[in-house]
Amino acid sequence: MVVKDNYSLREHNTFGIEAKASRFFEYTSVDELQEFVRERAASGDESPLLHIGGGSNLLFLNDFDGTVLHSRIDTITVVDDSDDTLIVRVGAGILWDAWVQYAVDHRWYGLENLSLIPGEVGASAVQNIGAYGSEAKDFIVDVEAVNLQTGEATLFSNEDCKYGYRDSAFKHDLKGLYAVTHVHFRLSHVFCPHIDYGGIRKALAERAINESELSAQQLRQVIIEIRKSKLPEPSELGNAGSFFTNPIVAREVFEAIFRRYPTMPHFDIDDEHVKIPAGWMIEQCGWKGKDLGRAGVYEKQALVLVNRGGATGNDIKTLCEHIQSDVKAEFGIEIVPEVNFIC
Ligand SMILES: Cc1cc2nc3c(=O)[nH]c(=O)nc-3n(C[C@H](O)[C@H](O)[C@H](O)COP(=O)(O)OP(=O)(O)OC[C@H]3O[C@@H](n4cnc5c(N)ncnc54)[C@H](O)[C@@H]3O)c2cc1C
Repeated sequence: MVVKDNYSLREHNTFGIEAKASRFFEYTSVDELQEFVRERAASGDESPLLHIGGGSNLLFLNDFDGTVLHSRIDTITVVDDSDDTLIVRVGAGILWDAWVQYAVDHRWYGLENLSLIPGEVGASAVQNIGAYGSEAKDFIVDVEAVNLQTGEATLFSNEDCKYGYRDSAFKHDLKGLYAVTHVHFRLSHVFCPHIDYGGIRKALAERAINESELSAQQLRQVIIEIRKSKLPEPSELGNAGSFFTNPIVAREVFEAIFRRYPTMPHFDIDDEHVKIPAGWMIEQCGWKGKDLGRAGVYEKQALVLVNRGGATGNDIKTLCEHIQSDVKAEFGIEIVPEVNFIC
């Protein structure tokens, strides 16, 4: 267990924003967390709590006047194993990509397309992370969590978590109420690659990898290489990945815009809804590669806002608001940050 006062969170957020927590509490077991919660309740402490993972989806706007919690629970246990599938219980404090690598090394298949997403396993169940046609919710069976008011441990089923696009009940009804301690994933003993998404097939062809002989390790490596070519490395250029979610709009709204922009990329969701890439709209508004003070828009991908050096959370927020306002004026669409603003 680690407890620190007046603690810098700079190394705990991938934007590299300087912000301090009044207190930082890092635990290695459910027992330690429960003891913290019960002692806190007994002392009548009602100061705010914030549970963080790797800070790869956080924007600190101020110092945090309360306790920041962080998990170091790092166990991986097989809890069920049948002919074709198995269920693995994974500690929330493990780095997501270390877990994906571990699964691939053990020939437990399914997570390959989610390779190299920053952050920790606990947050994957909060955020419903997704990439290259896969989402965490497709593999999550249950989520173990501790109630931050009572210390009681609870098991949430996949259905209880109400997963949606980059969304879950932990961002709404359950927001701030629970610490995720373990996530149970169902993986497969049989490798079924998903390569029909985001240029994977093309990347395989460029590397002369025969689709019929593709291994999970090769697929993971290709995803890593594609991602590295498109996204900035946070240790070199502070960022939180996609800053905005891609809006899903009514088909009439899409059609009206499409008449003005016939080359607009889009994805049909169903008969009535269409998803429009927020990055494309931001680019049309002329923001790609532009800076506003110490905050900027990444030159290779307009969906990514970056810290050009020394930016505050409010510098990034100001840039975000300018972009939102320009997109609204041009397309009539409100784009919504995916990043969690911490006030
Ligand atoms: C370069 C880059 C690329 C990215 N690419 C992708 C991508 O392809 N797909 C994608 O989905 N995301 C992507 N992201 C966003 C980010 O990686 C995910 O949102 C990730 O799940 C955040 O994990 P984290 O551990 O850093 O969580 P944090 O950012 O620390 O927290 C995120 C949220 O989860 C909550 N939380 C964290 N841990 C716990 C816990 N144990 N219990 C309860 N609540 C908790 C926090 O309170 C917060 O609300 C990217 C980010 C970066 C920097």
